[in-house]
Amino acid sequence: MNTKLKRRLRRIIAAIALFVAVMALDETGALRAVFGDTRGLYAAFALYLVPYLIAGYDVLIKAWRTVRRGDAFDENFLMAVATIGAFAMVAFPDSDPHMAEGAAVMLFYQVGELFQSYAVGKSRASIAAMMDIAPDRATVERDGRLVTIDPDDAVVGDILVIKPGERVALDGVVVQGTSRLDTAALTGESMPRSVEAGSDVVSGCINMTGVLRVRVAKPYGESTVSRILELVENASERKARTENFITSFARVYTPIVTFAALAIALVPPALGFGAWSDWILRGLTFLVVSCPCALVISVPLSFFGGIGGASRQGILVKGSNYLEALSRVDTVVFDKTGTLTSGTFGVVDIRPRDGIDGGRLLAAAAHAEAFSDHPIATSVKRAYLDEAADGAKRAIDQARIESAAEESGRGVKAVVDGHEILAGSDRLMSAHGIVCPDCQQAGTILHVAIDGAYAGYIVIADTVKDDAAQTIADLHAAGVKRCVMLTGDREKTARATALELGLDEYRAQLLPGDKVTQVERLLESARGALAFVGDGINDTPVLTRADVGIAMGAIGSDAAIEAADIVLMDDKPSAIVRAIRIARTTMRIVHQNIVFAIGAKAAILVLAALGIANMWLAVFGDVGVAVIAILNAMRALNCGAADKRP
Ligand code: ADP
Ligand code: MG
Repeated sequence: MNTKLKRRLRRIIAAIALFVAVMALDETGALRAVFGDTRGLYAAFALYLVPYLIAGYDVLIKAWRTVRRGDAFDENFLMAVATIGAFAMVAFPDSDPHMAEGAAVMLFYQVGELFQSYAVGKSRASIAAMMDIAPDRATVERDGRLVTIDPDDAVVGDILVIKPGERVALDGVVVQGTSRLDTAALTGESMPRSVEAGSDVVSGCINMTGVLRVRVAKPYGESTVSRILELVENASERKARTENFITSFARVYTPIVTFAALAIALVPPALGFGAWSDWILRGLTFLVVSCPCALVISVPLSFFGGIGGASRQGILVKGSNYLEALSRVDTVVFDKTGTLTSGTFGVVDIRPRDGIDGGRLLAAAAHAEAFSDHPIATSVKRAYLDEAADGAKRAIDQARIESAAEESGRGVKAVVDGHEILAGSDRLMSAHGIVCPDCQQAGTILHVAIDGAYAGYIVIADTVKDDAAQTIADLHAAGVKRCVMLTGDREKTARATALELGLDEYRAQLLPGDKVTQVERLLESARGALAFVGDGINDTPVLTRADVGIAMGAIGSDAAIEAADIVLMDDKPSAIVRAIRIARTTMRIVHQNIVFAIGAKAAILVLAALGIANMWLAVFGDVGVAVIAILNAMRALNCGAADKRP
């Protein structure tokens, strides 16, 4: 608990103690014995005023401010009017005094408020704690010596020295050492990842076994950890429709109940039904009950909890609105390469045209792909580097590349050693007027042309991810009606993958622009929300077009983190099922709270209007409903934790 909360707690405890003392004096009749009947009443009035003001002076000030600003009434206003009214009942000497209730209402209201602040603070803190992924120190090598610096001061090219047990502070590339990295804080997945010289390491992981020397690749502000923290911190700004509804509801509701209370207090006695003091008291009780705090606080708190619970599992949600949309998803559209199929697959065959050497073909393709992040590019480059089985150390010599440009969704065009090289799909070839054979082989085909002449093709095994089929089955079981795959790959490969995974539909031979058109068409026919899942390579336009754009394998891919609404830290499709479950649990909690809070309030309101509920019941009702709703909201923080798959 922070000091501000502690101070408030002390203030409230002091007020409660005073209140109890005053009440003891009052109820035992001690005051009346000392001061006499009438003066005793005023003495009690003055005494009750003390704990009341200690507990509630800030509420009164806030209420006064809203009135002066001419804003719509808020809960401070409701509380101020109700409690001042209760004290003012002293002006009706023929009725029982109600100062005790007035002070008690304020006290309980403040207890409730304190509890809320504590709950909000706690869920913030727990998100921050589980997102405790940013180390505040980094060790770098400078002039042969090790110095400890603030990660913010490290520059690209610095050599980080990371000992076992330490957390990686900045994104970089291993230059020396082998180790295993624990990525659990980022992905919620406890499988350690082995790294060696040349491997990328991502900030936020824990180095487990060996000392690593890592060359910093990105300044701290652009490293994975700071992007994640930024994203989670900003999440509460994007409000869900339910949240906005509650805010506008409170804005309309509060004035309505205020006027209703006024009507209850004034109309019946003016018409001659019963005593003024009776009805005024009913009006005041009505005001206390009607305070919408339970609703106003518990709904955002539930969303906050859901977002926190999700980030615990490596699912970063950029706003409550996306959680809400995700819970309604009935169509999930997948990108193929890198999403359903493994991002790093092997080259299985190299088929040069007669007269061309296979090694040259691979070298040309690898150099042309040097600057591409596409999974195909990664595979070709790896195959080229691994070819060096003869012992010779191979590297891609960037000096040989004069220019390179990606033709999104088709392939690349580059000039290497003065030769123009095209590497990509058959569509890339036909776009450049090159005739290529119609391959019957299974797998993804990378055609290569050198200086305008067809040079052969490379076959890449396109293996589906381990959990892809299970994911589709789980999605269907969770009520998702359509699972659709969109791919730029060939019809033949697409059909095979779709069949293997049990997808409902697929569309092949799509350029990134076509994927947008397809998603728009699917959006028209979808009844619920549509989620698109991609790896952020070639599919950012689609990510932004879908109701919910989900990017996976975000470790390292900046474009994906930017464009997506939900970011899955690892590249396992099964996280989508988990995300949907968390979203649904969160929405269920939100709806429970709305129904419960409104229902309980309505019941007590009716009782208050009928004069059955007194102010004591009203206060307990109000605080009780708020506390229960908040406790329920806190459950959202843990949702998803239980159903985590091994
Ligand atoms: P998917 O829709 O399956 O994720 P993409 O839209 O990324 O695939 O790419 C579609 C097709 O375009 C690939 O199957 C491949 O043939 C070709 N292609 C795209 N980018 C590249 C690249 N960098 N190198 C080679 N081929 C590429
Ligand atoms: Mg792709």
